[in-house]
Amino acid sequence: MPNPRSAITALQQTLELSQDAAGQSLAASRRRQGHVVRDGEMAERENSRSAAPGVSPVGAASDGPCGAGEPMGPDTRGMNMLKALVIGGGIHGVASALLLSKKGLGVTLLEKKEDLLCGVSGATHGRAHIGYHYPRSIETALECQQGLRYFQEYYPKALVYPSTGLYAIAKEESKTTVGGFKEFCRAMGLPILRPAYCAMEDGLLCMERLSACFTCFETVYDVQWMRARLWRELAEQHVRVETESEVAVVHKDDRFTLITKELQRHEADIVVNATYTETNRILKFFGQPLIPYRLQTTEVVMVLGPDQFRDLPSMTILDGPFCSILPQPREQGMYLAYHVLHSVVTEESGFFYSPPTPKVSNWPEIQEGLAVFFPFAEDLTKVRSLWGSRPIPQDVEGDSRQTRVMSHSRGLYSILEGKFISAFTAAEKVWKLIQEQWFF
Ligand SMILES: Cc1cc2nc3c(=O)[nH]c(=O)nc-3n(C[C@H](O)[C@H](O)[C@H](O)COP(=O)(O)OP(=O)(O)OC[C@H]3O[C@@H](n4cnc5c(N)ncnc54)[C@H](O)[C@@H]3O)c2cc1C
Repeated sequence: MPNPRSAITALQQTLELSQDAAGQSLAASRRRQGHVVRDGEMAERENSRSAAPGVSPVGAASDGPCGAGEPMGPDTRGMNMLKALVIGGGIHGVASALLLSKKGLGVTLLEKKEDLLCGVSGATHGRAHIGYHYPRSIETALECQQGLRYFQEYYPKALVYPSTGLYAIAKEESKTTVGGFKEFCRAMGLPILRPAYCAMEDGLLCMERLSACFTCFETVYDVQWMRARLWRELAEQHVRVETESEVAVVHKDDRFTLITKELQRHEADIVVNATYTETNRILKFFGQPLIPYRLQTTEVVMVLGPDQFRDLPSMTILDGPFCSILPQPREQGMYLAYHVLHSVVTEESGFFYSPPTPKVSNWPEIQEGLAVFFPFAEDLTKVRSLWGSRPIPQDVEGDSRQTRVMSHSRGLYSILEGKFISAFTAAEKVWKLIQEQWFF
């Protein structure tokens, strides 16, 4: 077998050579979307933000998508009288808490676990989606691009090398063709390169099972970094955060009264339900109609690569019941493995998610699935499982994974499903609904 290390070096060289072209293409794509970025602007922003820790990027006036500097807007005077409770300290709850606080509301964030981003937000694949993954749902791809722009602008340090990877199209059972993928990428302004380097010869991919392989430009996000950064921002924004606080009872008079299992009582005018798989439990407390879901238990497996693969690129097989392997940020030689079928450990239709006990790992099946496309799969060593859950609304068909935001009644909002990367754009949607109902 050829030497994989030299293969990876060759790939890196190919990628480095092509970075300029891709950078230009991305910049062109951003310009098309009306997002002009001057050379060095990102670095400058990052430096200035690190130099001024008291300045929170979220909602800085006239400075970004969450900015308070809209030219004409509703009369929001008096909103500092309003109290908001955000239930759920995942990425979506934190993003909403930060934005509402920045907009002037008094905000309390309640999380039942002992830390933030410890639910599904801490058990994802870490892909900073830019669209490649959704060739059958342009809306989802667009939402990812919008969400990613926010991270690029305000949390560039959360986005970690490698910024390039391989997307390959399976020969059989793929729902996307090579031509279809290329056309989709062109339409979305997503750069792709047909690598001159052939991954098969070097033991990275079983090319006989693939129709084509492209170099794409997509990074991963670092949840640990985000957790530390968001704690700091919450403190700067004076958001009151209560961990180990599980909402258990709700009353509604003029305002909402929420009581936690720990018997803490909270009053609020506005409640944001950001509990993801637990959404219906909260809706039930409020007497709201429930949302029928397909509720899944998911397993992403953290693995150690074999010695000769210390720097694998991220690799994704499209588009169907296949697999992918992505680098674990800042931990050389560690990867996150996922299989579209075998990583779904349980699935039930219904309203309320109950995790299986005990959780039995599907690693043998996942590894077998990986081996179909990655010749080195049998040399991967499982380190641990990241257990998550996923609510897929029963009315969603196909590949769409958009983040929905719902207003149930005046003052009660839910953030449903969605992506990690779209959290800040979802928070803006919540704010828009609040503005419409309270200030116009
Ligand atoms: C296997 C898998 C892989 C994924 N990969 C990616 C990816 O690569 N990229 C991407 O962008 N997205 C990915 N996603 C989607 C992403 O994980 C979710 O969109 C996002 O993390 C959901 O965040 P959240 O804040 O809504 O939910 P969570 O992170 O689950 O937060 C909800 C919080 O609510 C708390 N809570 C629940 N009930 C209560 C209560 N009664 N009182 C107080 N607190 C409560 C929970 O403890 C939890 O912390 C993936 C999802 C899965 C399942």
